[in-house]
Amino acid sequence: MQGATFPDLRCESARQLLELDFPGYAVGGLAVGEPHETTCEMTAEVTALLPKERPRYLMGVGRPEQIADYVARGIDMMDCVLPTRAARHACLYTSEGRRAHQERALHRRPAPDRSPLRCAVCKRYTRAYLRHLFAAGEITAAILATHHNVHFYLDIMRQIREAISFGQLANFATELRRALCGGPA
Ligand SMILES: [Zn+2]
Repeated sequence: MQGATFPDLRCESARQLLELDFPGYAVGGLAVGEPHETTCEMTAEVTALLPKERPRYLMGVGRPEQIADYVARGIDMMDCVLPTRAARHACLYTSEGRRAHQERALHRRPAPDRSPLRCAVCKRYTRAYLRHLFAAGEITAAILATHHNVHFYLDIMRQIREAISFGQLANFATELRRALCGGPA
């Protein structure tokens, strides 16, 4: 579904695609630089028109602190280059936000992620070792960091499912933003 940020065009696009009776629907054109609030508004416009029993996919989003907002607006699936691209540039996501490997903190802490459900990389390697791999230009650094960041995203989705089952998605979205950005967006 396309239509940029025009609700009437989005509606028309939805109408024509619904006529074709697809098993699921992709919402596109909302990850090309719009403010987060606009993406949320347009997403809510189109998901309101889609059948509840078919999966909805929002293309090209998003930042970890934003994905609960999209789920809250009826989105089931997302995709984004961010976790893997950031990993290749030595940015690892943690429960306190993004950490570049250059930070001194990387030396002091035992692993990039302190959560009880740590990824296989965090269970096995220290931050100092990851930093060493990046500093040495070792390709293993990018591979391990990618595993870590993808695990981080999947763990957010796990927490979103848990929050939904307790009827706490809105609270979780606020908490997530606070934890990763240091305050409400
Ligand atoms: Zn990890």
